[in-house]
Parts: sequence; structure tokens; C-alpha cells
Amino acid sequence: MADTDYDLVIIGAGPAGLTAGLYAARARLNVLLLEKAAPGGQILITDWIENYPGFPEGLSGYDLAEKMRVQAEKQGLKIETAEVHSLNLSSDIKEIVLKDRSIRTKSLIIASGASPKKLGIGEDKYMGKGISFCATCDAPFFKEKTVVAIGGGDTAVQEAIYLTKFAKKVYLVHRRDELRATKILQERALANDKIEFVWDSVVTGVDGFFGIEGVHVKNVKTNEEKTIKANGCFIWVGILPNTEFLKGSVKTDEFGFIIADTKMKTSVPGVYVAGDVRDTPLRQVSTAVGDGAIAAISAEHYIENF
Ligand SMILES: Cc1cc2nc3c(=O)[nH]c(=O)nc-3n(C[C@H](O)[C@H](O)[C@H](O)COP(=O)(O)OP(=O)(O)OC[C@H]3O[C@@H](n4cnc5c(N)ncnc54)[C@H](O)[C@@H]3O)c2cc1C
Repeated sequence: MADTDYDLVIIGAGPAGLTAGLYAARARLNVLLLEKAAPGGQILITDWIENYPGFPEGLSGYDLAEKMRVQAEKQGLKIETAEVHSLNLSSDIKEIVLKDRSIRTKSLIIASGASPKKLGIGEDKYMGKGISFCATCDAPFFKEKTVVAIGGGDTAVQEAIYLTKFAKKVYLVHRRDELRATKILQERALANDKIEFVWDSVVTGVDGFFGIEGVHVKNVKTNEEKTIKANGCFIWVGILPNTEFLKGSVKTDEFGFIIADTKMKTSVPGVYVAGDVRDTPLRQVSTAVGDGAIAAISAEHYIENF
């Protein structure tokens, strides 16, 4: 038997990692889950989730995250707060490098999720001063104010609707002339008096002295430019994989998402992937938990033959 600290280490405590941890703990593996922030991942910044089966009224992202964490820990999962800096996957025993130490494990599940894509419109300068990626966190700051939301997918439309609970007006800027979001969300947004759509348009910049005062918008068909007077700008234009620590150690697609087969096996034996960080056609809580369950069972089979 090789000398390792753990049978399995999981990176990331979002829905994928917490589900993998639940299954691995129930399989009585010697497992550790590493999370750099709070357990829950992106659902911690999601106001309300109504498409996760089993909760007909929906529930807050925070509540769902807590339920997942409690359930996994109840089964014996150990969660440690630590950021993974790099991996050494060149031998059978995998090494996970943290800030102050390394961990040796037989197998690994990467469930490090994804982060919102930036547009390069002043995010660094105006973060916390009007630009945000999280309506749940920041919408209350914009009570009775005007805000701009950018994007046309599920997240953008759902979060724009949430913003209308606080803001007096929400401009939804989308680069096409129709939304990509699920029909039920489109219907709600189109019926919402507080949302005004700015079609075929992109945001080119923001300005303001102490915080945002104006959002510059360009119509991509006519090239016409205008400035919307607004105090907030919420960006939901897609996500990027959290894979800085990989440094080429497993195979990814052209955008950096990790490639896997149907058993969640990556290009490296004993290394599995689950959730939003995977090259997958749908990034949702339900798909992340499915991936997590499969990855844990695959890791269990791998460990049996280690
Ligand atoms: C605003 C918003 C609204 C959404 N609404 C819905 C919805 O209504 N329904 C739905 O099904 N889905 C929704 N989603 C999508 C859903 O949240 C994601 O699909 C899901 O959270 C993916 O889970 P995950 O575990 O793969 O990754 P994440 O949730 O991204 O979790 C990954 C975790 O890994 C950690 N991590 C990353 N790097 C490291 C590292 N180096 N070391 C240690 N830890 C690390 C992160 O801190 C994070 O906690 C929404 C997303 C957003 C942003």
C-alpha cells in the first residue's frame, strides 16, 4: 500500500464538490475537501433557485448550500479552508500544493467551478463602487436607483428580475435582438415594467467620480452610441473556469474547461472532474451534483485497484 495522506482529495466545495464529498464519505473513503472560501460556491451569490428538483417553492442559494454542507458533514466529510496553489500529477501518488504544506493523495476530484467573465469596462476601478457580478450581494445598495444589467442568458435575466425588487429601473443590455434565457424567465422579464431592454448593444465603458454615474452603450448594428444615466452596472456575460492551479497538468478545451469522459475521468489516471469547471453543455446545480456523484464513484473504483 502506497503511503498517502488521503484516498481522495476534492478541490472546491460548490454543489459538485459537496456532492462528491457526500458520496465519498458514505463510501467510507479517507477523504478531504479543500475550499478556499465558504462552502457553497456560486450558489452563495444566487438569490433564489427554483429549478433544483425537490424544492417546489424554490429556496435561497444560501439555504441550499447550507443543506448540502450539513448533509455531507453528517456523513463524515472533512472540509478544510485552504487554497490549492498547484498540483504535481506526474506519479501515481498525487501531490496537492497549498500555501504552507503539500498533501499526498491516491486520487483527486477537481470541482473548482467557475467565476464571472469580465468585460474590461473598468471592473477593477469600479468594483464595489457600482460594478458588480452579484445581485444577491449588492442589489440592496441600489434601492430606488437606476442600474444597467448586461447579458441575455439565464443568469442575467434572472438576476435582472431580482434587481427590480430594489432598483426603480433596470436597463438590460444585450448584444443580440433576442434573449438566450429559458422561456419562463424571458416571459417574466418581458412582462416586468421596471425592465427596459436595450437590444443589439454592448457596454463600452462606465464613468463617474465617486461611483458610477453613466454607462456607455453602443448599438452594434447602427454604431450609435449613448450614455445611460445609472449608478450600478451588473455584469453576467458568461464564466471562466477556476483552473489557475492546473498549469497544464490535465487536458482542457480551448477555453480552459477540463475535458472528461462520461465517468468524469480526465486525461490523468486517478484525477476526476465535476461541475462547472468541466467541459459540459449545461452548467447548473443539478448537473454539478450529478457530475459530483459520478466522479466520487469513479474515484472509489480507482482506489479499490490502487
Ligand atoms: C448569479 C448566479 C445565479 C445562478 N442561478 C442558478 C439557478 O437558479 N439554478 C441553477 O441550477 N444554477 C444556477 N447558477 C449556476 C450554479 O451556481 C453553478 O452551476 C454551480 O454552482 C456549479 O457548481 P460547482 O460546484 O461546479 O462550482 P462552484 O459553485 O463554482 O464552486 C466551486 C468552488 O471551488 C472553490 N475553489 C476554486 N478554486 C479553488 C482553489 N484553488 N482551492 C480551493 N477551492 C477552490 C470556489 O471557492 C468555490 O467555492 C447560478 C450561478 C450564478 C453565478
